[in-house]
Amino acid sequence: MQGRILIVEDEPAMLRGLKDTFASQGCVVLTATDGEAGMNLALSSEPDLILLDIMLPRVNGYEICRAVRERGLDTPIIMLTAKGQEEDVVLGLNLGADDYVAKPFRIRELVARVNAFLRRRQSGQESVTRFGEFELDAPAHKLFRNGREVELTAKEFRLLAYFASRPGRALTRDDILNAVWGHSVMVTPRSIDRCVTTLRAKIEPDPHEPTYIQTVRDIGYRFEP
Ligand code: CA
Repeated sequence: MQGRILIVEDEPAMLRGLKDTFASQGCVVLTATDGEAGMNLALSSEPDLILLDIMLPRVNGYEICRAVRERGLDTPIIMLTAKGQEEDVVLGLNLGADDYVAKPFRIRELVARVNAFLRRRQSGQESVTRFGEFELDAPAHKLFRNGREVELTAKEFRLLAYFASRPGRALTRDDILNAVWGHSVMVTPRSIDRCVTTLRAKIEPDPHEPTYIQTVRDIGYRFEP
């Protein structure tokens, strides 16, 4: 198993067990024992996956989920939750977590799930979308024009990757909001329009007559490769 895993867990024995398990599987393991350190690592260390306890000192797991998605990062997040707390799970999923395991869990089951996420992420690394003189490398989070990288913000990249995965389809602002911004309550449709404007400035031959990211009146946008 290859990948960088961030484990955020304040219970020492649990943390040690998880760390040893994933290190022995060949992963690079980063750890944090409180929510603040976990938040910083989640946002700065580019892990391939996050194992996230919910009840944490300083900053809870929900806030970390929310912050990761608001930053436009699509890092898979598996929550480690207490048993019988479905409401917590739903809240976490709504905030952008991908999956959860309830404590006490079987380590084999968790390893299998982590492995599946990492494999999907790596198999996705072959997928490159081409349009015009551009090449979008989704897993690497890079866009190239004639082989030269075009600098995009994380949000612009996520938005473009979302468009590129749905070519030729009219996408509502709600669809785009949910897919690109997650379930954050902090954004409005105006946020999409602003991001589209800056993205167009970077990729459209003429941003005033866009050919790739077309406006669908009263609905949203359509990506035409
Ligand atoms: Ca805890």
